[in-house]
Amino acid sequence: MIERATVPKENRAHQDSFEQQRDTWRRAYAEAPSVRERFPQLERLTIDIRFCDVKRLGTYSPQMRGFGASAKAFFAFECPRTLCLQGGFDLDPIVQGLFTSNQAKSSGKLQCQGRLHSPHNDNAHCRLELHYAIHLVYEVSESTTVGRPGARSGKRSGS
Ligand SMILES: [Zn+2]
Repeated sequence: MIERATVPKENRAHQDSFEQQRDTWRRAYAEAPSVRERFPQLERLTIDIRFCDVKRLGTYSPQMRGFGASAKAFFAFECPRTLCLQGGFDLDPIVQGLFTSNQAKSSGKLQCQGRLHSPHNDNAHCRLELHYAIHLVYEVSESTTVGRPGARSGKRSGS
């Protein structure tokens, strides 16, 4: 007995979840302030990322992103696996941490916490690794580069 090939309800639910997920990302991006608003002393920052797939399900191109002062301060990356739900990589806390501690560079890796939806392998963890290198370029502030004219005049008497 052959059953008609219909799309199971579950798949449609997943489809909706993926659409909701895309919406959430779009909204988060739209609502993000600019780099200048969040990090006023920053001239620009760059983020290099590459993916390392321990499961070897696919290969994903490395990316390099540059953010100028007027760019959106949005440092989260979607998981490149098409079947990954609730995944992604948020570099925002790392950028924030660097800025707060006045550091310029950081590198490391994050693992995707999403789940894969596939017919063979339902609810498997994604665990795709993202290796990142972040570089912050601060504005050179004039008050620290211009030497004070009177700085040398305080000669100590004594020798
Ligand atoms: Zn993922």
